[in-house]
Amino acid sequence: MKFKRVLLKISGEALMGEGSYGISPEVIRFLSQEIQALYNLKIELGLVVGAGNIFRGVAGAASGMDRSSADNMGMLGTVMNSLAVQDGLESLGIPAKVMSAITMLNVCEPYERLKAIEHLERKRIVIFAAGTGNPYFTTDTAAVLRALEIKADVIMKATRVDGVYDRDPEKDPGAIRYHTLTFSTVLRDDLRIMDAAGISLARDNDLPIFVFNMTEPGNIVRAVIGEDVGTLITN
Ligand code: UDP
Repeated sequence: MKFKRVLLKISGEALMGEGSYGISPEVIRFLSQEIQALYNLKIELGLVVGAGNIFRGVAGAASGMDRSSADNMGMLGTVMNSLAVQDGLESLGIPAKVMSAITMLNVCEPYERLKAIEHLERKRIVIFAAGTGNPYFTTDTAAVLRALEIKADVIMKATRVDGVYDRDPEKDPGAIRYHTLTFSTVLRDDLRIMDAAGISLARDNDLPIFVFNMTEPGNIVRAVIGEDVGTLITN
C-alpha cells in the first residue's frame, strides 16, 4: 500500500451530479461505495468536503454581502454536505464521524485534533466540516491543514479529470497529463489545482498532493495502492 492514512478532498460541486445545485443521492451512494473499498483495505481516511454546490462566500460578497458573513454561510454549507456523506457511509455500515470547526454540539462533534486521530486509529472515517472555521479561507486550505494535523501521508484531490494536464483536456483532446509535478511548477505556471494558500502550505510542510479522477469507479483504490492514475505533486 503506497499510502496508509489519506485525506480525501471532495469539492461541493462533485456532490451535485447531473444537477446544478444541492446534493445528489446517487453521487452520495457512489462516493460511499468507493470509500467503502478503501475502508475494506484498512486505509485510515479523513475527508474534507467543500460547499460549492450550496454556497460560496465570494458569490455572496459579489452580491453585496459582508464577506465574513458570506463565508460563514459557506462553512455551514460544508456541514450539510458532511452530514450527507456521513449518512451515506453509515448506511453501508461504515462508522463515520463529522467533526466541525464551528461548534454545533447537537449536530456533530467539535473538531479536536487528538480525538480525530483517535477516531482514525479506531477505524472510523472522520469528515472534517466547516473548513478551517475562519472566513477568507477555502476547503482546499482546510484539507491541507487537517492533513498536516492528522499526519496524513497524502492529500487526494478528487476531480473530474485524470490529473493535471498541460492544457484543458475537456477542451483540447491533445492535452498531455503530467505524471508528476513539483509545487514550484504548480505555483509558477499558476496551474489551478487548489488555491495558492493550500499549495503553499503543502509545499512548506512537504505534504504530497495526488490529483485524480474520482468519477472513474475503482480509481481511488488504484491511487492508494500506487497505480499511475493521476498526477503526484511533491517538492
Ligand atoms: N469557507 C470559509 N473558510 C474555510 C473553508 C470554507 O470561509 O476555511 C467558505 C467559503 O465561503 C467557501 C465556502 O465555504 O467559498 C465553500 O468552500 P469551497 O469554496 O472551498 O468549496 P468547494 O469549492 O470545494 O466546493
